[in-house]
Amino acid sequence: MLLDFGAATDVGLLRDENQDRHLADGTLFAVADGLGGHSGGGTAAAIATGVLGRHGRLESLGQLIALMGSANTAIFEAAIDNPRLSGMSTTLCALASVGTASEPDRLAATNVGDSRLYALTDGRFSQVTVDHTITENLVRDGLITPAEAANHTDRHTLTRAVGFERRVHVDGWELAAVEGTRFLICSDGLTNEVPDPDIAEILRSVADPGAAARSLVEQAVRPGRGRDNATVVVVDVTGGAPPGPSGPDQLVLATSPAVAA
Ligand code: MN
Repeated sequence: MLLDFGAATDVGLLRDENQDRHLADGTLFAVADGLGGHSGGGTAAAIATGVLGRHGRLESLGQLIALMGSANTAIFEAAIDNPRLSGMSTTLCALASVGTASEPDRLAATNVGDSRLYALTDGRFSQVTVDHTITENLVRDGLITPAEAANHTDRHTLTRAVGFERRVHVDGWELAAVEGTRFLICSDGLTNEVPDPDIAEILRSVADPGAAARSLVEQAVRPGRGRDNATVVVVDVTGGAPPGPSGPDQLVLATSPAVAA
């Protein structure tokens, strides 16, 4: 499997500090959006991407979920050691190539929080991850409509975060690595500012992944927007299984919701 990628981040127009962190090392890609005062958010996000960045060869989704658990432990224990950082935590959304040493043939994705993974495959743009917010739970349970969720007061309140408690529940997916698929990992500083159809249009029209990432962040922080830090990683599957001969390819091979790690 060959992956081409690019990334961009911006502090935005209103915040003093960029508490988003990202990782893109060729086989593992992640976005972390830190939460917590006294620079705790940036610290938590940096610990998370640091732990993920020390990964060895990943053979399975389970190993990526375990790595998310290691990040959770590292942040939780750092907060115990430094009471000023008490309660610091972070979102963490990751995508990695997995498989045997000679043939990594699948992708694994994991998520905690409201950073997101999207896929553009066969022209179709879809969100893979599910946000862990109070509002998302209300929509899932049929108590409010998606339209009501857009303006709900709890739409930014997370129900899960990495490092907040001793254990964390991680959602996971096994994904097909089909040549031509483009993935987007981003913080909510993109998705709260740029409508999904506009995000999809940029991903369809800008071929280079680095240029696409920069274009998306530019849209997120243009005048009138830019209320939050914005971070984007774009990953293209340039060599993998060829697209199937008929019909749309299956993207999600397996889903593992809320695995304790
Ligand atoms: Mn954010």
